[in-house]
Amino acid sequence: MTSRLTIAIQKSGRLSKESLALLKACGVKFSINDARLIAHSTSHNIDLLRVRDDDIPGLVMDGVVDLGLVGENVLEEARLEREATAMNANFVALRSLEFGHCRLSLAVPKEAQERGLAQLNGARIATTYPRLLQRYLQQQQIAARSVVLTGSVEVAPRAGLADAVCDLVSTGATLEANGLVETDVVFRSQAQLIQTAELSDPNKLALINQLLPRVDGVQLAKESKYIMLHAPKPRIDEVIALLPGAETPTLLPLSHTDQQVAVHMVSTETLFWETMEDLKALGCSSILVLPIEKMMG
Ligand code: ATP
Ligand code: MG
Repeated sequence: MTSRLTIAIQKSGRLSKESLALLKACGVKFSINDARLIAHSTSHNIDLLRVRDDDIPGLVMDGVVDLGLVGENVLEEARLEREATAMNANFVALRSLEFGHCRLSLAVPKEAQERGLAQLNGARIATTYPRLLQRYLQQQQIAARSVVLTGSVEVAPRAGLADAVCDLVSTGATLEANGLVETDVVFRSQAQLIQTAELSDPNKLALINQLLPRVDGVQLAKESKYIMLHAPKPRIDEVIALLPGAETPTLLPLSHTDQQVAVHMVSTETLFWETMEDLKALGCSSILVLPIEKMMG
């Protein structure tokens, strides 16, 4: 029997939807039963383990699963924790996944915002990430105590449990709603694809080698646009100069005229309205910007 590659993803939370969408875009099909921990792929020898995100680094480091999709904040905290307690903290970072962006930031009550970082000397700081926090405080030569909370960190100052917080932020709306002001970024994070350090099964390695170019293809496609337009022949150089990243556009004749050519290109930059207006002013027409679903070099 061939071995099955196991991948741990967050069961339900901020990373779940995009983790599943990435696998799906890579052609890995699942039928998810919400009540089940494990989902078997119907297209590949892959099993999906759906767990709390906090458990993913340990599962990968202990070799219980082969791959994991997890936020760098959770990953780095787990790594520091395991290093400090002489546990195995090895893993292989395969790809940054360009989703789950957030930052771990220090925030203080609005009325204390003017006093700067030094006010945190001797303070109590509520956080879910004591290791990341202490590493930062050490770098800044600040001695503060962490109050470890796994949830509701942002209400700790009002509840009298802490003087400041070190919490995840993406827009800052939650901090603001709790009368807190972000003062320092401690750690920037996005989702990562990680692999267990000891992996020798040739079937699993072959599958990973098939998946990685697909992950890259999905990401590249997400960042890219297909641009098509009709351009006046005499001004073609000016048109190409306006197009972002257009080293090698494809030029095609048009059947109804020899005054114009069709220009097709893939761009990793988006075409702004301003550029489209400039193209129009040069005499271009039928300007289309299309999303790309898949790409392979
Ligand atoms: P679980 O039940 O799996 O432990 P959780 O409540 O710990 O879930 P979520 O709030 O779903 O976790 O966040 C999961 C991850 O999403 C975070 O660890 C972080 O990497 C990322 N993330 C992105 N934006 C944010 C944000 N604004 N706040 C919190 N986490 C964010
Ligand atoms: Mg969690």
